[in-house]
Amino acid sequence: MVGQEHITKTLKNQIMAERVGHAYLFNGGRGTGKTSAAKILARAVNCLNPVNGEPCNECEICKAALSGSLTDIVEMDAASNNSVEDIRSIREEVNFLPTIAKYRVYIIDEVHMLSTGAFNALLKTLEEPPKHVKFILATTEPQKLPATILSRCQRFDFKKISNDDVIKRLEYVAKESNIEITKDALKLIAVLSEGAMRDALSILERCLQDGETNIDENKIKDLVGIPKLTYIHSIVKAFLEYNVEEAISSVEVVLNEGKDLNNLLWEIIKYVKDILVYKATGKLDIYNENEIEQIKKLSEEVTKQRLLYIICDLSKLENDMKWSSQKSILFQVEIIKLCSENLVETVVESVDNNNKKQDKTVNNTKKEEQISKKDKENQVENKTNIANAISGYGEAKGWKNVLAELRQNGKIMLYSNLLKAKAIELNDMTIGISFPSGINAFGKSILEKPESITELSKVISIEYGKDMRVKIIESVDSLPKKQEDSTNIIEKTANELDIPINIID
Ligand SMILES: [Zn+2]
Repeated sequence: MVGQEHITKTLKNQIMAERVGHAYLFNGGRGTGKTSAAKILARAVNCLNPVNGEPCNECEICKAALSGSLTDIVEMDAASNNSVEDIRSIREEVNFLPTIAKYRVYIIDEVHMLSTGAFNALLKTLEEPPKHVKFILATTEPQKLPATILSRCQRFDFKKISNDDVIKRLEYVAKESNIEITKDALKLIAVLSEGAMRDALSILERCLQDGETNIDENKIKDLVGIPKLTYIHSIVKAFLEYNVEEAISSVEVVLNEGKDLNNLLWEIIKYVKDILVYKATGKLDIYNENEIEQIKKLSEEVTKQRLLYIICDLSKLENDMKWSSQKSILFQVEIIKLCSENLVETVVESVDNNNKKQDKTVNNTKKEEQISKKDKENQVENKTNIANAISGYGEAKGWKNVLAELRQNGKIMLYSNLLKAKAIELNDMTIGISFPSGINAFGKSILEKPESITELSKVISIEYGKDMRVKIIESVDSLPKKQEDSTNIIEKTANELDIPINIID
């Protein structure tokens, strides 16, 4: 038994004093040792030569129990035997004396899974148990048990096993089996198993399956499909530096290694959370010195608000991905979003108006140096002008279809950068793309790539059923003279429809 000293001590004392109760409830999370403890207790109460309240594991009874041939210890999984009949058969059985042991012990695992009828049947037995019968009920969800059952059991709460205890136990096992395992690897297994000893041991076993007895951190990561920390680090670093190309390419590297997208997302969320923890407390347990150094650097470049924003957003994404058949698209769009300075800062600012002054980030400051006030004013003016200027043009036909098509074709960068765009018909062969709410430098660089323009014109041409050109509108000057063109369009349409029309300028 690891890490449950509070329980083992009490139970040993009860056994030594021969004051063992007739019903126990062992409550605790997965892998905290409930079932193992139940089995040890079942042997201890029946052992012919118990030592300090522990079973000797050598007497006839212990040996039979260990080999599973002792019929007086009955293990039952309530998840699969939860009917009234299952419990009724126990009720009939308890009237008979045990075959060779002193007590017949019933271990009922996952007892919360019993049906209401089964609980009632069990209750009757618990109310008047024969002296030769003991019950050990185990559950992960005690709140699902009727109060009448709870009140008749001695309850023991098994706590999550601490990382230190898991590590100690793993070290012991490794030593016994001549396994060389690094400190970092031990730490990682402890973290992964989240306080469940059974999971920790099974990770260790899986590491040994290839016959190698040297285990390091990377071997474990490979085995459980966790992307290496260096990748997670570079992805998060790219987020924080608004470097979308770096972020996307790091993600691709990880996914090309066959790592699971959900795992990757989870690791990213954890890492960002750890940066936040470090920023708040200056402490982190589970990383080595180099890693802490990297985390420290990142934490200095970012505000708590932005970290929180990223965590919230990624958690939402994690949820959305559960229901989506297009996980990788959602994921990539999210990365682009997180790396887009404008988007992020608007939200962050609205989240945190108060601390704005105190919590200026390096990024904010840098940005402000680059863009002087005047530039900002110009930008605003330009935006308004564009918005006014394009309002007279008709919207491009089937723009939604165009976006959908781009997404379908896997042009995610292009697609997501066009989400906020307004597409208008400049004339009968040109579509103008403008950004009434502005576009950041990165978005612009994506759109201006010749292959982007080609792809976009291709998809628009298909939509229009004829060759169309694309023009990015950055300022009012880049718009063709409106009247001329709209006159052309009207004239042309009128001609096509054979409507006589006279346009007066
Ligand atoms: Zn024994």
